[in-house]
Amino acid sequence: MKTRKLALRCPVCGSSEVAYTCTPNCCFNHVCADCSTTFETLTARAGGRMSGIIPPAEPPDSTDPTAGCAACLSTEVYMTEDDSIVCAACGMNLALELTEVAPG
Ligand SMILES: [Zn+2]
Ligand SMILES: [Zn+2]
Repeated sequence: MKTRKLALRCPVCGSSEVAYTCTPNCCFNHVCADCSTTFETLTARAGGRMSGIIPPAEPPDSTDPTAGCAACLSTEVYMTEDDSIVCAACGMNLALELTEVAPG
């Protein structure tokens, strides 16, 4: 199963120009470059595991959107080709939520 980097959309304006503002494994705070809204990513177990996950060929930059796995706390959380979210470290299927939304 090939994966790609996590892509997020701003919950307020829908922009994909979303950057991670902190250090890995810290607060998961993101900011929208278009409207300055800040929000945090949160994952929940969606049930089931996937095997044979191939991480993206290009590792994410430090400013790329990131999320922590609800099961193992890894930040190797990626999207599959059908846009579902999976942890490459433990294979858990995840559901992504955006919390702490603060419009800019
Ligand atoms: Zn926005
Ligand atoms: Zn995991």
